[in-house]
Amino acid sequence: MREYNLKPPAIEAADLQWRDGIPESRQFGDVYFSRDNGLEETRYVFLQQNELPERFRALEDNDVFVVAETGFGTGLNFLATWQAWRENRPHNHAILHFVSAERFPIAPEDLARALELWPELKPLADELLSSYPPLFRGTHRLVLDGGRVRLTLFFGDVVDAWSTLTFQADAWFLDGFAPACNPDMWLDEGIRLIRRHSKAGTTIATFTAVGRIRRALQGQGFAMRKAPGFGRKRDMIVGHLPPEEAEPAQARTSGPVAIIGAGLAGSLLANNLAQRGIEVVLIDAAQKAGAGASGNLQGASYVKLGVDFNAQTELALTALNFAYQAYEPFRGRFWHPTGLLQLAWNEQESDRQTRFLDRNHYPETLLYPVNASTATDLTGVPCPFGGLWFPRSGWLSPQTICQRLIDHPRIHQRLGVEVRRLTPCNGKWHIASDGGPDTIVESLVIAAGHLTPQLIPLQSSFRFKAIRGQVTHLPEGLLKAPRAVICGEKYLNPMAGGTAVTGATFDLHNAAPHPTEQSNQENLDKLRTMLPDAFNDHPEPSGTFEGRVGFRCTTHDYQPVAGPVKDMEGRKLDGIYLFTGLGSKGISYAPLLAEYLADRLLGHPEAIPGPLQKLLDPGRMNRAKTKDNRRNTELSSNEAVK
Ligand code: SAM
Repeated sequence: MREYNLKPPAIEAADLQWRDGIPESRQFGDVYFSRDNGLEETRYVFLQQNELPERFRALEDNDVFVVAETGFGTGLNFLATWQAWRENRPHNHAILHFVSAERFPIAPEDLARALELWPELKPLADELLSSYPPLFRGTHRLVLDGGRVRLTLFFGDVVDAWSTLTFQADAWFLDGFAPACNPDMWLDEGIRLIRRHSKAGTTIATFTAVGRIRRALQGQGFAMRKAPGFGRKRDMIVGHLPPEEAEPAQARTSGPVAIIGAGLAGSLLANNLAQRGIEVVLIDAAQKAGAGASGNLQGASYVKLGVDFNAQTELALTALNFAYQAYEPFRGRFWHPTGLLQLAWNEQESDRQTRFLDRNHYPETLLYPVNASTATDLTGVPCPFGGLWFPRSGWLSPQTICQRLIDHPRIHQRLGVEVRRLTPCNGKWHIASDGGPDTIVESLVIAAGHLTPQLIPLQSSFRFKAIRGQVTHLPEGLLKAPRAVICGEKYLNPMAGGTAVTGATFDLHNAAPHPTEQSNQENLDKLRTMLPDAFNDHPEPSGTFEGRVGFRCTTHDYQPVAGPVKDMEGRKLDGIYLFTGLGSKGISYAPLLAEYLADRLLGHPEAIPGPLQKLLDPGRMNRAKTKDNRRNTELSSNEAVK
């Protein structure tokens, strides 16, 4: 990874100067686009020379087209491509993926100013601006145009982008600043990686005609030629990758896909695939979606970010940011981004937050520190301490969201169906349940929370833990209900429909399926210690309370699991995936992981970069081999791999 000048996860913004209304980079001393007519230049150099309009028109339903770009800049190339996509592919399920790397992202206010230059792109620019990520380094996935356009925006150096992202481009836009003022963009290493992300016939176009760049591309197997340049530029170069030079195409399923488990994870994935035109069979033993751990009345979009910025924290942050976007359609009804306070509720947490703020630099749109008095103002509850304020977080009704998500014509619900056995046969998976014929699919995802291990068709044992969590329903009047979510040792949600949910217990060695008085008491005692002045009835709340029990599926390293099932030797089993281990962070993580799994299943560019994918690997969940389970695993994995 290249060095950054700011503390993580911040990234230096572009330093712009405006001359005659046109943005120029102070860092590089060059313009973002031609002074003659930037939009026409984009159309000529990148769209026309890559023959995009014709190629878009030739796509079939469910096809995917991938454009990759060096240097996102103002997003002009992206918007012009999106506009051409709309014009040439008005009605079907083909998806445009646009993958772009940007070392110095433009701040949102500057981006808005730059895009005002193109009134005809305004509706698209407005949509881009409303999802444009806060400036922190890493991979951002934007789902636009109802999912027909997906932008993977990597904030960081282009070589880091191409070294960590998984995608295969159909067309390349090489658009740095001029090679003389932007040498890092045109390194041989970057050009080598461009070939690695290209498939048979991938085309490439760039405004520059510098001989070294042409030769470097030719050295990687691209057939390159000169073409007339735009405006005052004499030449540009354009080319393609002959089939014999290309990497094999990424594997993909065309569906149908079966998902076992209609909790938040399974429902988000089902909806994601259905939106991309895939038929889904969604199976759950319960009679309705979101009946397990996702069945609480309220759940908070909460993550814990590490003191030292590392891969786990990057994953948490990326997921949290994606979740804001994913829940947006439910805003005001089932999703309430009220803000969330991470209370510095004891000395240890206060010390942790101090070190966290000292070692990191987060954009204020994501989080900032507040003192006790501001915390009190923001939440409406007397807070004895300050903490970290997450302005865009909040709470949602997970069960209702699950039910809305699965209400889709391409999702075939099989609720009340208990799966008995999963068997591979001739490249397909047979799903046997009580009664009725087997469901037979090409691909299968097990998203059954803590029941997942018993469904995995390997005779080995796994490192999942089921952890009981009981929430307590607090009736109106008992306490000053907060306007925002407050998290500390327990969380407390705002009042909704006469109830505020608090909890949850974390019971490792308790399998009691029903709420107990003892767990309610524990929740109340801890809440009282955390927020002593929130309660109206001093000194002790009395009476019995309602509650609900769920079992979280947790892993030994507290990281989720999303990816292909692997046997004890680390070999992937074809067509079978796990999506679980979300612990108590499912609300924040599940949307991004669903997006990533859908990408993987369909062979689309992947929303999560390689180093973060490793954290999610199902292979790590297999217990170390003992002699006995080695024999059993070999038997069953041989059968499964067939
Ligand atoms: N495609 C852009 C558009 O449509 O507005 C214009 C791109 S501008 C000519 C070049 C961009 O490359 C700048 O935004 C610059 O910050 C970015 N850049 C320069 N060096 C880079 C590097 N090493 N990695 C990633 N991006 C880089």
